[in-house]
Amino acid sequence: MTVASGTPRVDWTDSFSSRAKNLQVSETRALFAVASRPEVVSLAGGMPNLKDLPLHQIARSFESLFAGDGATAMQYGGGQGFEPLREQITDIMSLEGINASAANVTITAGSQHALDLVTQLFIDPGDPILVEAPSYVGALSVFHSYQCEVHHVLMDDEGLIPESLDEAATALEKAGRPAKFLYTVPNFHNPGGMTLSEARRPEIVEICARHHLLILEDNPYGLLGFDGHLYPAMQPLNPDGIIYLGSFSKMFAPGFRIGWALAPDQITEKLVVANETAILSPSMAAELSISTYLRDFDWYGQVDKFRVMYRGRARATMEALTKYLPECTWTHPVGGFYTWVHFPPGINTNEMLPRAVENLVAYVSGTAFYADGRGADYLRIAYCYPPEEEIREGIRRLAVTYEQEKDL
Ligand code: PMP
Repeated sequence: MTVASGTPRVDWTDSFSSRAKNLQVSETRALFAVASRPEVVSLAGGMPNLKDLPLHQIARSFESLFAGDGATAMQYGGGQGFEPLREQITDIMSLEGINASAANVTITAGSQHALDLVTQLFIDPGDPILVEAPSYVGALSVFHSYQCEVHHVLMDDEGLIPESLDEAATALEKAGRPAKFLYTVPNFHNPGGMTLSEARRPEIVEICARHHLLILEDNPYGLLGFDGHLYPAMQPLNPDGIIYLGSFSKMFAPGFRIGWALAPDQITEKLVVANETAILSPSMAAELSISTYLRDFDWYGQVDKFRVMYRGRARATMEALTKYLPECTWTHPVGGFYTWVHFPPGINTNEMLPRAVENLVAYVSGTAFYADGRGADYLRIAYCYPPEEEIREGIRRLAVTYEQEKDL
């Protein structure tokens, strides 16, 4: 059954909580519907490409897991998550210089769920927070649903600008309403494609510590650097002041919906209770499956294959942009799924979108990534899913749309 839209027979609008009133249909949902038409080249959704996963081998390994230990896999688990998997997660995080105990890891239903739980723990309606400009649309939806007052901090090619962060934190402090946290995606930014330079990382941590500002370091793409370089996480620079979010969605597959939060003790205690309250326990079937995958497969070799695939797609994107859209500028990602394209004055990427779809290409307009209506001169290209030839064709169609738009 699909959810009907249109005039309801009984109107519940007045009964909805103020939180529910802040839940709005995401732009992404509408876009997924459009983009799923086969004739449309979708540069919109950030779906990982899973074609290289050895699904038959994985199926055999899961079959023996369920045959051997199915009763555990199908049972409730602990609210903090399956301990052996939490141990494996600490090994994964050690690749980025994090030295953590499994006791500080809480497993969630994707890192999206961790974002929701953390926001729930820290935000009363109207509380100010700092986020990057632009920022991940799914995080903005969470912040909006909890009625955060979102303040954007500027970025450049090296990521978040420390001076801009310091200024924003100082201004809120002076107004007697200090920000509750900074939300940042340091590596291979969604939607920006930029990466926080290593030089800036200690600066950002120092500024936040000085302002008693908790950092939410969201890092689902960190292992997908095109040249295999692993950027050091900020978490080790201040383990008491940073919540680090990780996810299996991009390094393995999103279908299991498993992510995690690494947090200081005091916050972990609350996170576990919040997790239990929301879902009792993460899916044991999913946790055991991922734990088995990490144990039985060369998962890092698989990440290498993903990296190489995304590198090829990013290169095709850069070449096509240079060829077809020379009047635009864009970021040059060194990993991840996205580039952020800036159009010359006069172009509104929201108004251009229906015409782009007529020309059989889809993207996400820049305004989706701001809380304040900015960004109509930008759009996000996600090059992760379509093969290289389709990316080239999609960008050619985008250029045709742009030429038509200029003539209007
Ligand atoms: N953070 C960022 C920056 C993302 O891009 C995404 C997914 N697109 C998420 C969090 C959520 O990922 P998941 O819930 O699948 O772990």
